[in-house]
Amino acid sequence: MRVKARIRTTAGAGGGRYGHRVAEVLIIEDDDRIRPLLVRGLRECGHTVTSAPTGMAGLQLAVDSSPDLVVLDLGLPDVDGTQVLSMLRAVSAVPVIIASARADDPSLVGALDSGADDYVVKPFTSAQLDARVRAVLRRVQSGRQRPTTLTVGGLVLDLAGRRAHLDGTEVELTPREFDLLAHLAERPGEVVTKRDLLVEVWRQPWGGSDKTVDVHLSWLRRKLGETAAEPRYLTTVRGVGVRLTAPDEGA
Ligand code: CA
Repeated sequence: MRVKARIRTTAGAGGGRYGHRVAEVLIIEDDDRIRPLLVRGLRECGHTVTSAPTGMAGLQLAVDSSPDLVVLDLGLPDVDGTQVLSMLRAVSAVPVIIASARADDPSLVGALDSGADDYVVKPFTSAQLDARVRAVLRRVQSGRQRPTTLTVGGLVLDLAGRRAHLDGTEVELTPREFDLLAHLAERPGEVVTKRDLLVEVWRQPWGGSDKTVDVHLSWLRRKLGETAAEPRYLTTVRGVGVRLTAPDEGA
């Protein structure tokens, strides 16, 4: 199971760095009075929330629904929360906040050592929990930030400056060509379908034509000094898509 990178924000376009991150949160809590309060509290903060009353039900939900974050109680009726955490860690890197009445050092240290990302001692307010959820998501997200430079063979892309160099010489690219090349350079050797490119580069999940991609690819090839018949970096895999590889690693 993979942690989803999809974290939405309610901030304006392009914002989000300081925006109010909202996420899909799974709450594992057996207490029938506390659980609905936590669910409601986080929903009021804009999150999408699911919950489970036992450790095993929670694990199942965590695997099935791949939440962005898990809030985990330690005192559970079937499996102790620390064991739930270990089992979860075996299959997932999803951020986990322990929410427990246990305030003693061994519980706290043990949970953090077992891979919890944060620990909040009951009782706490929903505002506090929401703040911790956002803080953890912020940390996770910043740890995943894109690198500033991508290098594939002699091709170097400066993502911040949006400049491309091939064997030391700058290649003049249109914004779209740069985005296309960067998208491929972020996954070197991987065949990317034209449909994916339309969604990810052109932001056209429903419309758009493969021809659009073909045309841009041919422009890009010309600028990189290659052709579809004699590819160096950009190889078309017929019926599937295109991949970017360094010439010496090419297929
Ligand atoms: Ca409990």
